[in-house]
Amino acid sequence: MPLYSSDGIDWHAEADVLVLGGGAAGLFAVIEASEMGASTILLESELAIGGSSRLSGGYVVLCETELEPGNRRELLEDLDDAHHHDSHFELSRVYVDSAADTYLRLKELGVEFVGSMQFAHMNRPWAHEPGGIGGGAEIVACLERAALRREVEIVLTTRAVSLLQDGTGRVIGVAADGPAGRLNYRARKAVVLASGGFTRNPELIRQYGRPGADKFVPLTGKGSLGDGLKMGLGVAAATSYLEIGVAPTVPVDPEMGGATLVNYKGAILVNKEGRRFCRESDVYLELSWAGVHQTQELMIQVYDSAIRKDYLDWHLSSLLGLCPELSAPTLEALGTLLGERCGVDGRALVATVNAYNQYAMSGKDPDHGRTHLVGTAGDLRKIDNAPFFAVVLKPGTTHFNGGLRVNRNMQVLDVAGDAIPGLYAAGEVTGGFHGSGYMSGSFLGSALIFGRIAGKNAADERRAWSEDEKGAIETPAV
Ligand SMILES: Cc1cc2nc3c(=O)[nH]c(=O)nc-3n(C[C@H](O)[C@H](O)[C@H](O)COP(=O)(O)OP(=O)(O)OC[C@H]3O[C@@H](n4cnc5c(N)ncnc54)[C@H](O)[C@@H]3O)c2cc1C
Repeated sequence: MPLYSSDGIDWHAEADVLVLGGGAAGLFAVIEASEMGASTILLESELAIGGSSRLSGGYVVLCETELEPGNRRELLEDLDDAHHHDSHFELSRVYVDSAADTYLRLKELGVEFVGSMQFAHMNRPWAHEPGGIGGGAEIVACLERAALRREVEIVLTTRAVSLLQDGTGRVIGVAADGPAGRLNYRARKAVVLASGGFTRNPELIRQYGRPGADKFVPLTGKGSLGDGLKMGLGVAAATSYLEIGVAPTVPVDPEMGGATLVNYKGAILVNKEGRRFCRESDVYLELSWAGVHQTQELMIQVYDSAIRKDYLDWHLSSLLGLCPELSAPTLEALGTLLGERCGVDGRALVATVNAYNQYAMSGKDPDHGRTHLVGTAGDLRKIDNAPFFAVVLKPGTTHFNGGLRVNRNMQVLDVAGDAIPGLYAAGEVTGGFHGSGYMSGSFLGSALIFGRIAGKNAADERRAWSEDEKGAIETPAV
């Protein structure tokens, strides 16, 4: 039985603000909307909320905090560098201006950060690391508790499929498939799309992503199917930086989905032919793109017991761990084992390691120009301490760069650049903030910061926007 009918639609339920997706962006949106006094419903397609956010490392890029006092101007410069000076820069400004306040708000909601890390493109350790159970799981758990305290209605296993509009084009609700079939949910004020990316939708990746991107093993939440993008396109929303496509990240074990980066402590990467194919000290994004062009996309890390020990002593290994390893007392035996398991040319592998050991001694790598272990840090080291180890990996991905175009209020824009009334978006469903690059820790960061803004503005919808607030975005210089 519908609750009531209007606009020719049978409504099953209604709230001021409907949020679609229960990851970091959706949870923060729903919390802030209810804090503003709005009634809220959050629809989540899966059995549990959390999405990619829950699976993530939990690093959040923030500035002007008690852990990292570096200021917003410095972070803005680093973000611009990470985005290759090619992004909707206005969104970076919003990000840095909201970072310190978001840190305090997360603390209020129970998220304790215990340290901060410096990754590529960072002049300071901007990436804040949560304590508690750690990773994105800690952030999601705190936000979920905060949402439940505010009596947010969370409806699980209910997948939003299309946005509903009135005769003027205003988004007034959503049709969603759940256990009771297809039902319509009405939004008195606005809908917030927070349904994540589309790393698990090969068809969309082939359509929009960079060629080869569909070969990456997704490590993302099961709901990363691009529903939000499709729903946005269904109401003529514009997109931004979609052509950047899946952003490959770490080499992963295709069976278990785990990731490992022993190469940054001295391992080499070889292909099925037993040959190196990249400079192992490069940023993992480049390594993964190189891996996608190898036979069966195999990128095998080969190392010895001394390198293994150093990796396990490194804090990053406690986050990533080690993928299932093959080990053998000699390089020849390791080559044979790899040959039996996945057809690797074991003899070529032995020759490759021997040649690499010569390069490590001379400090010159004529094949791939490796001079350090990672970036410009750490001297090359030989692989000659038995026993020897290998992990068989493929390129993996944790997120998608492009998506729906939004302004600084997180209103979704149409192809003419006008805001679609009643529609907001935040998180990986959007594109433009990261532009053509990314900074580690700013994906979760943007889901949180922009989710928060989307939720507040959605709760405030239907008031007149001042000229200043209308949120025109700067066109990127390309
Ligand atoms: C292994 C891993 C490690 C990572 N580490 C980091 C890190 O340390 N720092 C960082 O910045 N980024 C990291 N990322 C990327 C980051 O986690 C994501 O980009 C970010 O969390 C996306 O947040 P979101 O809220 O937009 O999407 P999600 O967290 O994916 O949430 C979207 C939610 O919407 C639901 N949904 C989808 N479709 C529908 C629908 N039709 N109806 C209703 N619900 C729907 C999904 O099931 C999901 O729960 C990592 C990602 C992974 C996978």
